[in-house]
This record gives sequence, C-alpha cells and structure tokens, in this order.
Amino acid sequence: MPTTPAQDGYARPDGTPYPRANDETKWRAQLVPQEYHVLREAGTEAPFTGEYTDTVTPGVYECRACGAELFRSDAKFASHCGWPSFYSPLAGDSVVYLEDRSLGRVRTEVRCASCGGHLGHVFEGEGYPTPTDLRYCINSISLRHVPEA
Ligand SMILES: [Zn+2]
Repeated sequence: MPTTPAQDGYARPDGTPYPRANDETKWRAQLVPQEYHVLREAGTEAPFTGEYTDTVTPGVYECRACGAELFRSDAKFASHCGWPSFYSPLAGDSVVYLEDRSLGRVRTEVRCASCGGHLGHVFEGEGYPTPTDLRYCINSISLRHVPEA
C-alpha cells in the first residue's frame, strides 16, 4: 500500500490519475485555509468541533473539494468518537486507501477517489454494532452535506 502524506502527486494508489486532480495553487484559491489544511495536507479537525458530527438529516455527503458523492446518511452512525462516522462509503470506488504511519502506528488513510483529497481514516474491529465493523472516521470539513430533496 502506498504511504501518505497527501502531497505525493496526482496519482491514486493504483497509479491511475485522480480524475478531478487540481493544481495546489488552484486548491488554495478554492478552499478556505482550514479546508485546505485537512483536504490537501492531511490535517485533522479537532474532535467534537465539526459541523456534521451529530448530523442525522438524510442525504448525501459530497467531497468538499470536488463534489464527488462519498457517503450516505444511512451508513452514518453514532460512534461518539467526535467525528462523523460511517460504516461504509457510498460506493466501493468512491474512496481510496493509503497506509499512514504518521503517528508511529499504522492507520489506513481514506481519500476521495476523484480528487485525492484527504478525508480521514478507517478503523476496523472496534466492535460497533454496524454491518461492517468498520468506522470511517471522517473530518466534517472534508465533506459537504446535501440534504435529500
Ligand atoms: Zn474529492
């Protein structure tokens, strides 16, 4: 598995280009600094501060950078970990995974498969009563919630 940090080019872990890749100067112009820090520099928002941590409104969560549909509200669950948590992405190919050793342990980073933006990490085997036993721990600031019409 390729390794993070995020600014390692414009290719997915399998070597194919991100279809919505963008120049870093364009991302800087498009995203506010906090969004840029998380999405493009693999930052993490502080727990319990994100706008979607407790959101239960039905709808889709898009990538805040490129608009790709990433997660659905029906796979969101109350993990009480301080970040929005999903047990699966909207589709298997909507996200890609990278090995992240940045905190001295191995975690699996989750990125948008369309633009390469950092979303968060996925953890497994924590015992949450969900269909997958996976917790996609995602920064609110990487997402944009689109309520169901
Ligand atoms: Zn994206």
